[in-house]
Amino acid sequence: MKTDSKFTILIVDDEKANLTVLNRILYGEYEIVMAKNGELALSLAMEGKPDLILLDIMLPDINGFDVLTRLKGEPETKKIPVICITGLDSEYDEEKGFLLGAVDYIKKPFKSAIVKARVHNHAEIVRQMRIIEKYSLTDPLTDLSNRRNFNDRLDTEWRRAVREHVPLSFLMMDLDKFKSYNDAYGHPQGDILLKAAAGVFMTMARRPADLPARLGGEEFGVLMPETGAEGALMVAEHIRAGIEALRVPTADGEVTTATISIGVVSAVPGKTDSIEDFISRADENLYAAKTAGRNRVYAGIPADPKDSQ
Ligand code: GH3
Ligand code: MG
Ligand code: MG
Repeated sequence: MKTDSKFTILIVDDEKANLTVLNRILYGEYEIVMAKNGELALSLAMEGKPDLILLDIMLPDINGFDVLTRLKGEPETKKIPVICITGLDSEYDEEKGFLLGAVDYIKKPFKSAIVKARVHNHAEIVRQMRIIEKYSLTDPLTDLSNRRNFNDRLDTEWRRAVREHVPLSFLMMDLDKFKSYNDAYGHPQGDILLKAAAGVFMTMARRPADLPARLGGEEFGVLMPETGAEGALMVAEHIRAGIEALRVPTADGEVTTATISIGVVSAVPGKTDSIEDFISRADENLYAAKTAGRNRVYAGIPADPKDSQ
């Protein structure tokens, strides 16, 4: 999710004069990328994922409405807001632009100040949406993904694993005796430990597709797409050791430590397998790790030898 980098606008127009004027209006406040035909616009949109697109409709190769349709049909580009900016001034065309998914429709000849103001408004909406999206998907204490984000990704990755016959692994993790830690050092210090633990999860689950998440109070999970049992066990052991090695100072200068128990589950899921069973196996393995004495990783017996690839 882009939040910090400069807002990028792709301007699509076959007339050099229009590109020059639009660039002049918007340059400075935004990063500008330009395309003079539809094909180039589509490839730049796919590659560069601009934050907003200004799209002329009358283009030499593909009609701008078709460009818009294709942008809205691709998962990678469908969320990018598109403003039509065109000489087609009939009500019919304007309505068509909106029906195809444009967020605004500006008729040529345009007034610079109006283009600037409308672009500014849409850029602001995109920025606000990103902030809302970030907060709705992130746990505020640890900055890890929250349960909602985890569930969405689990669903997506499970379906992908079924489709592509690739393994999927999951670690269910729970800090040991965390209630006693809170009782001994206070709830705010407990929060500090949760943050430190989150740092360990982020460091150890380092592949771009790995998803460490906070699932509840002191329960965490790591989803690891395209990772088999062996890899999952390795990451789990690194996390366990990483938590054990933590030294978390209190405000009084006391140095505290913690341990974690981890249940591991791996599968190459088939069409008839259920996500719920997969997660409950991890839960059972976590429970087994707890009853076996805590501060350990438990993976049970792999359900199928092919899962250990
Ligand atoms: P076990 O080893 O069996 O997991 O023991 P435990 O004490 O960790 O287990 P239990 O589930 O009984 O305790 C969880 C504790 O986590 C209770 C609650 O006070 C604490 N907790 C839950 N959410 C938060 C939080 O956001 N911050 C802090 N500081 N504590 C939390
Ligand atoms: Mg616990
Ligand atoms: Mg618990």
